[in-house]
Amino acid sequence: MNILVTGGLGYIGSHLVSKLIDKKFSIFIIDNLNNSKRSTYKILKKINPNIKGFKKIDLKNKKKLLNYFKKKKIDIVIHMAGLKSVSESYSNVKKYYNNNILGFVNLIETMQKSKIQKLIFSSSASVYAPKISSAIKEDDQLQINSIYGFTKKTIEDIIFLKSKSLRLNYIILRYFNPAGCHQNGLLGENPKGTPNNLYPYIGDIIKKRRKYLKVYGNDYKTKDGTGARDYIHIDDLVDTHLKSLQRLFKYKNIQEVFNVGCGKSITVKAVINSFKKFCNFKIKFKYYPRRYGDLDKIYTNNNKAKKILQWRPEKNLKDIALSTFKYYNK
Ligand code: NAD
Ligand code: UDP
Repeated sequence: MNILVTGGLGYIGSHLVSKLIDKKFSIFIIDNLNNSKRSTYKILKKINPNIKGFKKIDLKNKKKLLNYFKKKKIDIVIHMAGLKSVSESYSNVKKYYNNNILGFVNLIETMQKSKIQKLIFSSSASVYAPKISSAIKEDDQLQINSIYGFTKKTIEDIIFLKSKSLRLNYIILRYFNPAGCHQNGLLGENPKGTPNNLYPYIGDIIKKRRKYLKVYGNDYKTKDGTGARDYIHIDDLVDTHLKSLQRLFKYKNIQEVFNVGCGKSITVKAVINSFKKFCNFKIKFKYYPRRYGDLDKIYTNNNKAKKILQWRPEKNLKDIALSTFKYYNK
């Protein structure tokens, strides 16, 4: 089975590719290296010498995309490529619109021309309306809170609206907060520039590139006042893609959406404490004002994924801290 992973050299993509090759799938990767490095491909090749290939292609370049698809026999596309910074999306709407939405339109039109009717899409919890008191379910209210969230919701809508005419079988995975690194210590989150997300920022502190963590807000409605998220270990997240692939190949007419998270709400302070407790590493921090658009707390009810995908998260905050520390403390 030939699988194309767009954005396959990024944080989640590289972990997924590594696992899929372990499982003997045949993998093609395209990525424009906007937020990833060619060196990640070298690492993937070191871990999995029989990896098939990577091509630097920007989804905005439809001609190149079409040529690529003509040369390959692809059975299914896992679409992970995209820009993902909420704050940058506010200051650069056009960039996010062009990259994420128009890039996806090019991809789906190319899939149509090539008669590829199976798709897994990396969506996000950012499509949901905030909900303070309980865990989010797939049929909860959707509400756009950022330009980034708008691009994810729009791609989902295009999938819903085009699925009939394209006879598309799809699984949309709405990730909560992926975290942690590969157990071999070779793969992890390695973004370009200053990290926006909590764990890669902590990574910079472990690497001694930065002295302290800026904790954005200490007056949220959470148990210690710091923002709370649903951190899911990258290995557990990757597993939902394996389960989704099995489902798409076993059954016909699959058109489904799943939340992917561990189902727990974890504060920034709890993350800081986990490094002290499990890695004996003290993270210095200072409180800063809230980031624009940040929510108090967001976590999922993961019963649907557990029931239908027959999946359950195996790892916890300790595994996330240990693997993160191992990767950045090289
Ligand atoms: P990442 O930035 O590490 O990986 C994305 C990859 O896509 C990068 O390698 C980048 O170079 C590539 N890319 C971006 N635009 C492209 C384009 N036009 N053409 C080709 N390649 C392009 O991000 P990630 O954390 O691995 O996220 C993967 C996907 O999951 C993204 O779509 C993201 O929105 C989604 N997601 C991520 C998170 C998270 O917290 N990491 C949460 C929810 C959803
Ligand atoms: N956060 C923080 N300092 C940072 C990065 C993030 O305090 O340098 C907080 C942020 O306010 C939020 C949590 O950590 O409460 C997770 O932020 P991240 O950007 O990783 O995920 P998102 O907010 O997109 O879910």
